Formats: sequence, structure tokens, C-alpha cells
Amino acid sequence: MIIGVLALQGAVAEHIRSIELAGGQGVAVKKVEQLAEIDGLIIPGGESTTIGKLMRKYEFIDAIREYAGKGNPVFGTCAGLIVLAERLEGAEEPHLRLMDMTVARNAFGRQRESFETDLDVKGIDTPLRAVFIRAPLIKEVGASVEVLSVYQGEIVTARQGNLLASSYHPELTDDYRLHELFIRMAQERGQTHVGR
Ligand code: GLN
Repeated sequence: MIIGVLALQGAVAEHIRSIELAGGQGVAVKKVEQLAEIDGLIIPGGESTTIGKLMRKYEFIDAIREYAGKGNPVFGTCAGLIVLAERLEGAEEPHLRLMDMTVARNAFGRQRESFETDLDVKGIDTPLRAVFIRAPLIKEVGASVEVLSVYQGEIVTARQGNLLASSYHPELTDDYRLHELFIRMAQERGQTHVGR
């Protein structure tokens, strides 16, 4: 499976490494035309305001909405999760408005800006190593969103059909099982549809 990583800003190389460890082929996506060549897209962590601005500038908003609308898998991690959300707490405008959830940015406060933990994730048999860096939280989800993990009562991993989102960085450890799960989503999609 060829998995693209949106390469406007953020942790791109780390995701490509995890994709390859998980048995996929990773490519950096810098132009909208490349969406036609990939089986799934990862939107990495970084700074969501910056990523959102660059997505508008390089015309990725409509292109990714269309890509996801056709059933292609899209996975947002940390800032990428913020970018996927339909609703953001506070004054900030949402970006892709794809996933039916309300997200709070920088939700852990200064005391817990950055930490690592082991998380139980539905579909992964033993706890996943997760790195949180100024992480967002999913405050509320719609009926079509499946919660895959909860950390201290807050939702940190969720799936809505072909969309996957994590509050944390799954690409900063050697535990690449969330990338494997995403590659499986791309394979399942490939089996039921012809063409991208
Ligand atoms: N705090 C960042 C934001 O709001 C996200 C942090 C991250 O991606 N590690 O965009």
C-alpha cells in the first residue's frame, strides 16, 4: 500500500519511517495531484494553524475533502486530528470539517505538556506506546464515530469509517501498530473499490 504523508509542516519523515516499518510504502505529499497516486493519507502532527494555512494556500482543503469523500482512508495525528475535526473549541475556524467531533487544542495544560504512556486501543491486542506533545483532546463525538481509546476519561483515538484520528504521536516510537491498522484500512478499501 502506498501511504502519503501531507508534507506542508510537521513530523513527516517519522511517519514515513513508521509506514515502512509497518510494511507500507511512504511518500511525502506536497501537491494535490499526488492524492491520485496514494492508497491513504496521513496528516501529521505539528502546528494545526500553520498546517491549515498552508492547506488553504496549496488548495488541499477541497482536494482532501473530495479524496476522503470517495472513501479513501485519512489518518490525522495530533495537529492532524485538529485539522480533521468538524468543530474546534474556542474561536478558531475548523479546517477540513470531515470528522464529526469537537476538539480542544492544547488540552492537557502546562503541567502535562509532553509525556509518554501506554494506551489500550481497540483493535490492538496489548497497550500501545503513545507520545503526547501539547496534545488536543476529543471532547465530544457524533453517533457515527467509534471511540478506540480513552486516557484519564478523555477520548484520544477515534475512527469514523475511513477516517482515523489520534491525539498523540504514534510515529515517535518503534510501536507502529496504529500504522498497521491504518494500512489495513487502506487494504480493505482496495478490496471493495476499483480505482482511487
Ligand atoms: N498544539 C498543536 C496544535 O494545536 C498540536 C501539537 C502537535 O501536533 N504535537 O496545533
